[in-house]
Amino acid sequence: MKRINKQCLNCGEEFLPKTVTSVYCSHICSKKAYKQKIKRLKIEEEVKALTDKIPANRAFISVPEAGMLFGIAKRTLYRLVEQGKIPSVNLGTRLVRIDRRVMEGMFGPARSLHVAESAPKKKLYSLEKEDCYSIGEIAQRFQISEGSVYSHIRKYSIPTRQIGKHVYAPKSEIDNLYNGNDFI
Ligand SMILES: [Zn+2]
Repeated sequence: MKRINKQCLNCGEEFLPKTVTSVYCSHICSKKAYKQKIKRLKIEEEVKALTDKIPANRAFISVPEAGMLFGIAKRTLYRLVEQGKIPSVNLGTRLVRIDRRVMEGMFGPARSLHVAESAPKKKLYSLEKEDCYSIGEIAQRFQISEGSVYSHIRKYSIPTRQIGKHVYAPKSEIDNLYNGNDFI
């Protein structure tokens, strides 16, 4: 069997492989690649240890947590939050919280397998303004106090989104909640 040149997976140089399974041009490249792999695994392990501590059912996560869970640089996230591209709740200085489900909507499932497996089944809803009620609208529509609306939203982990001064929740989730009789 005629062997053809391959490209080294470490340095990118072409080489004539010694065996069909060779992927590195030299012992040095193979060693470097191995070291990098160990380093990567170590980082992944550290990230996993941290992300495992974030409860899967916690709706609001900090920016560093979101960065780890979704594999996005903190700096990028802070910028997106500042630009209003990721809706956030500000609980005080350096206490920006992001709705995890908004992150999932934008970036796909969180990368920690542990978290993804134990997370509740993803519901289909839209957090677009036209698909949401404001808390005031909910209170008026269903004849309950805004305080009760907030406590039900917390109790049933309904996603919310802040736009300007108002908090919005998806119509589908709210209708589901209050059109049933057993919501209290
Ligand atoms: Zn090489």
